[in-house]
Amino acid sequence: MQEDELRAEIAQILARTPKPSKVLVTGGMPYANGPLHVGHLAGALVPPDIYARFMKMLIGPQNVLFVCGTDDHGSTSEVAAKKAGRPVREFIDEIHDRQHATLKRYAIGVDVYSGTSSPDNFEDHKQICQDTLRKLYAAGMLEKRTSQQWFDPGMNIFLADRYVVGTCPRCAHPRAYSEECDACGANYLAAELLNPVSTVSGETPILRDTDHWWLDMWKVLTPLKAWIATKEKTWRKLVFTEAMSQVAPCLVFPNQHENEYKEQKAALPPHKSRYATGKRVVVQLDSVEDLEKGRQVLTFPTEVMDGWAHRPITRDISWGIPVPPEIDPAMVGKTFYVWPESLVAPLAFTRRALEAHGRSPEEYRDYWMDPKARVAQFIGSDNVFFYVVMQGAMWLGMQDGLQMTDVFANCHLLINGEKMSKSTGNYFTADELLDEHGFSPDQLRYYLSGLSLAKKQSNFELEGLREKCDFLSGPMNASLEKPISAALSKFDGCVPEGQLMGKTAEETRKMVETYMRLMAKADYADLLGLVENYGRLINKLFTNYKPYDDRFPEGERRDALYSSFFLLKTLMIMLYPFAPEAMDRVRQCLQLPVSVFAVEELGTPIPPGHRVGNLVQFFPSTKVAVESEGAAQL
Ligand SMILES: [Zn+2]
Repeated sequence: MQEDELRAEIAQILARTPKPSKVLVTGGMPYANGPLHVGHLAGALVPPDIYARFMKMLIGPQNVLFVCGTDDHGSTSEVAAKKAGRPVREFIDEIHDRQHATLKRYAIGVDVYSGTSSPDNFEDHKQICQDTLRKLYAAGMLEKRTSQQWFDPGMNIFLADRYVVGTCPRCAHPRAYSEECDACGANYLAAELLNPVSTVSGETPILRDTDHWWLDMWKVLTPLKAWIATKEKTWRKLVFTEAMSQVAPCLVFPNQHENEYKEQKAALPPHKSRYATGKRVVVQLDSVEDLEKGRQVLTFPTEVMDGWAHRPITRDISWGIPVPPEIDPAMVGKTFYVWPESLVAPLAFTRRALEAHGRSPEEYRDYWMDPKARVAQFIGSDNVFFYVVMQGAMWLGMQDGLQMTDVFANCHLLINGEKMSKSTGNYFTADELLDEHGFSPDQLRYYLSGLSLAKKQSNFELEGLREKCDFLSGPMNASLEKPISAALSKFDGCVPEGQLMGKTAEETRKMVETYMRLMAKADYADLLGLVENYGRLINKLFTNYKPYDDRFPEGERRDALYSSFFLLKTLMIMLYPFAPEAMDRVRQCLQLPVSVFAVEELGTPIPPGHRVGNLVQFFPSTKVAVESEGAAQL
């Protein structure tokens, strides 16, 4: 394949790639209760940064915003501040600033790192939250219910679920929470928990009646399920399966009726059945209409499994967004539950990001409301229910013109094969990996991107990280350095004239096609292996034609070096979202402008006669990392 043919084919690949008008990217919001750890980086911060950088290369940096901030409200930060004996504002500001500094060190290129309680953001965010509640109320999606909650009389606060532990009323596990047990998976009423203890004060809490608004997601079940169904081929399997299993209309009955069910099931609409905990059978139907038909067909008592669809979305916590007073004066003093609050938080963050760029905050509509735009959200796999089901139901219920978003979830990062745990020390903060272990941000970004968290739990261990660093400082650096070094030593520091050799054109076409497809899916682990093989083509050209050695035929040496620079430029652009600092050093060394980081530059040559600069180190040598770690241990 010739260079002009290749260019035509790449133009077609780029023309086929969907290009949204604007892209808004969000990363899972860290709580303002401690430093960022490697799990935050791996699941919720590095992947969206890579995605945002790619989208900037695809549709232009001015059309992409990456927003994030701390999730400040609710009991998490309030209790952490109380335990630290610090005023909550001061406590959160300090943690927020430390997290922001860590993000900068890791080149996480957020357009804003705000916070739900940040003084410059709070009023605007509060307005959006209160409008959300008004709209949900107007849509008939808020239902007032009375329930009993544990109250700590000494601290004078209602205790959120995880701040009460006691004995599980179902399995007798001694560390069950107020309304759920991690050991047996049971959900129950707060009043059923045995031997409750407040984890805030260590005292015995008391039960108090309290009213809350419950979000009625059942009201939008049909459009919610229809929307999720459209994502079967485009979303990650774990997100689609989890979301779909939540919203499937189900009936449930005790297994003593199983024989009757078997006799009657031929008359039911199409359905699937399965056993569930508590000696029950679940019948899953396709629609709400089928669910009603099913209830009429079955002659024994059944219940609709709609617990997921009714969730309280207010709390008795003072540290939060107050509910709008005019809807119901009796609810004054309650605050918006921190989960739905965090779902609307990126709206105000987007406005802050626009202001930071000197643009009008009203432009947020171009990102959130224009059907040609796209919102991509990166979260941990635990949060699929909130980001897909609850947020989807809120957006559909409000009918506010907000676009439905695309959700990319990542599985848990294990540390040394075990669950990450601060208390046992099986845990790394993001900063300690740089300061105490001597790794560079790009090394970590690259290593974490190569784990398959998009598909399964993956393991972080220092040994594996060091092996990856060896690869980067060895074969990868060789691919990046060889063409520059040969040009400097034998070709007057210039790219020679030549033709694309061997498989250069064909492999570039294949690589660009795969790159565009996998980057749009944020499927980084599969992609990096292919990019690494692509980089090895440079080493092969050098082995075969030795551009640095005058004793070999000059024509082939020129073609090989011209081809190597061609491969190098495409390699550098493709790796830029993963290792932005190292690739920017390559760019400077090649004396190319910043605008080279654009998809249109993939598969294009560095023109003959172009002068390169002196070599610098791209990926650091791992010897340095090991030595500085040794020094830190002394
Ligand atoms: Zn239990």
